[in-house]
Amino acid sequence: MKSVAFSYAPAHEIGDAQAALGHDGIKLVSGGQSLGPMLNLRLVRPSGLVDVSGVEALRQVVETDGAVRYGAAITHAEIEDGLVPDATGHWLRYAASRIAYRAVRNRGTLGGSLAHADPAADWVIVMTTLYATALVHRPGVGEVRIPMEDFVTGAFRTALGPQDVLAAIEVPRPGKTASWGYWKYTHQEGEFAKASAAVFVDSDTTRCRIAVGALGRQPVLLREPDSVISGAVSPSQALGDALPDMSAADLRLHAIALAKALEQRS
Ligand SMILES: Cc1cc2nc3c(=O)[nH]c(=O)nc-3n(C[C@H](O)[C@H](O)[C@H](O)COP(=O)(O)OP(=O)(O)OC[C@H]3O[C@@H](n4cnc5c(N)ncnc54)[C@H](O)[C@@H]3O)c2cc1C
Repeated sequence: MKSVAFSYAPAHEIGDAQAALGHDGIKLVSGGQSLGPMLNLRLVRPSGLVDVSGVEALRQVVETDGAVRYGAAITHAEIEDGLVPDATGHWLRYAASRIAYRAVRNRGTLGGSLAHADPAADWVIVMTTLYATALVHRPGVGEVRIPMEDFVTGAFRTALGPQDVLAAIEVPRPGKTASWGYWKYTHQEGEFAKASAAVFVDSDTTRCRIAVGALGRQPVLLREPDSVISGAVSPSQALGDALPDMSAADLRLHAIALAKALEQRS
């Protein structure tokens, strides 16, 4: 099947995209790696696409002492290849390399992935564990800061309003002793996760998170991550408490993902 006919226009500034979103049937496109297949399957039938992948403000990377701000149109491949600084040392590069396969990573963008909010997407869980913040441009308001755990509100649902543009993602620099681990289970290399888990511990900032992903909803943050990290509570116990309705098979798969993420912490 092919998509319905639609108009196409590149945006030059964030304001162009916001103005276009004020018209019925207009959708933003960035890398097109999620939207493209949906268009072809006619799951979405926009009257027009506005391409934000070339908007200068969405292509910027800004470093400060405490964080790195990545423009939403930075691609997975640019992060994987180290063409932009990695706020975490090397963790973002690793996460990017785990997404799909190279052709998808060449076009797919950080912002497109988060705005799409697939429950099994890598950036959704990775950015949640790393205490990242979505920087959203809202007409009449300006820049709104939304912590990642509040940005993704469900399966393919976000806190973006009808004319909002996700402008950037700010990733805090972890302390020197911080450690992180991420593991996803896939049937085949390059696929979306069937189960995923990420662990972050930063004694310098006393930040500590365990997120479980690929649940058909936004990632779940475990309430008492320290007890799992110390070994006082096992991954299956913790997941059984946090997700009592999960099937035994899913629980086992996610417990394996969490155990592997704990093992991989570096
Ligand atoms: C075969 C295949 C395998 C894949 N495997 C994985 C995988 O293993 N892991 C994974 O994480 N992902 C995977 N993906 C998805 C991929 O990572 C996409 O790049 C990503 O989900 C979407 O990014 P995009 O830039 O292509 O967004 P697009 O497809 O262009 O847009 C996606 C959505 O975001 C909206 N949008 C885009 N930019 C903005 C913005 N700045 N502000 C507001 N809304 C915006 C669009 O309107 C659209 O609704 C896979 C994709 C394919 C085709």
